[in-house]
Amino acid sequence: MLAKSSRHVVRVLACLVLSDAAFLAAQVATSRQKLDAQLASSTKEVRTGENLTLPPSGDWRARYKETDFPVVKKVADNVYLFQMPHPGIKGWLVNSLIVITTDGVVVIEGQMNGAKLVDEVKKLTAQPIKYLIVGSTHGDHGETQMASMPGADKITFIGHAITKWWFENDSKIPNRSGELPNIVKINDVVGTLPEDPKSAPPHVTKILKVGNEEFDIMFMGRGHAGPDLETYLPKHKILWLSESFESRQLPSMGDSSYPSEWIAMLKEAALMKNVDNYLGAHGFMDTPAINKEELINDIRVLEQTYAEAKRLHDAGIPIDEVPKHWHFGENAALFFADAALPDITAIYWELDNKLPACPPCRPRRWQGGGDTAVLPVK
Ligand SMILES: [Zn+2]
Repeated sequence: MLAKSSRHVVRVLACLVLSDAAFLAAQVATSRQKLDAQLASSTKEVRTGENLTLPPSGDWRARYKETDFPVVKKVADNVYLFQMPHPGIKGWLVNSLIVITTDGVVVIEGQMNGAKLVDEVKKLTAQPIKYLIVGSTHGDHGETQMASMPGADKITFIGHAITKWWFENDSKIPNRSGELPNIVKINDVVGTLPEDPKSAPPHVTKILKVGNEEFDIMFMGRGHAGPDLETYLPKHKILWLSESFESRQLPSMGDSSYPSEWIAMLKEAALMKNVDNYLGAHGFMDTPAINKEELINDIRVLEQTYAEAKRLHDAGIPIDEVPKHWHFGENAALFFADAALPDITAIYWELDNKLPACPPCRPRRWQGGGDTAVLPVK
């Protein structure tokens, strides 16, 4: 729960955002038309990765060896992108952002190998990690590993109220060895639980000032994870989109995503003023110009997948028979082998008003649609 005073701040900020929106209404309408035109006309030349010597899906093995990791890349003064191979998906990356302020380090997004992350921070600065912003609740970003990061007890973990609920709930569920997992407490909360968990909680922005840096931590709607947090760094004009931006891969909607809210959130992000670089927690990040194109590609393939699911749904194809009828065209190669059917299932559920309340936001692919180990055909 937020303290009364910070709740007031959040409300004031929400109002500021609203009046801003009213002011800019006309301008946004034109920008939205421009975005729609861009989405309709954008091509695949970036996503195929040919100009980057990357194969479709952005497999890092075209550029890196296993021993190159972690790959730490400076993206702005005192801002570093930390990249590790995904533990489960071959050739894919899990990213975090390290921001060194004059008063300690802020890390955005955890990692399964938290010790490596801490080691790299130590190579960059003698300052301690003070905050970790949990943009995504999922395990591949360290849900159960963040607690064992060296110095975790001195880190303030920031997350959405639903993330706090999620972590507390998961810490009561024994793991496979029958032990209760050690999951960090979210001790600085953004937003509130929704009054009706069937609906999204309100959009909020929490301003965190640490040393010489400002972090605008935003809940912009339920995206890939449910309680996704996006973080804007005004000084660097960087927008961290957490798991909602998954470069060069068809994003997975099967776990705890809210498909049309996700698309709406990314469109809002693409229209945001004063953003020079879009970064995300998965996939190959490149120059700011290419990252922007990849964000547009991301939105387009999400929309195309949504349209294909709606076509199948409206044609009355039962979920079990979907793989016999689906067509993803040139996007087929962008799926994880097991992502296509859960993606379509999530959209079916949205169309039938059956998406789980949030919290708990899950379970998904373990109910209904199930997994498929085969890639969809073109
Ligand atoms: Zn993830």
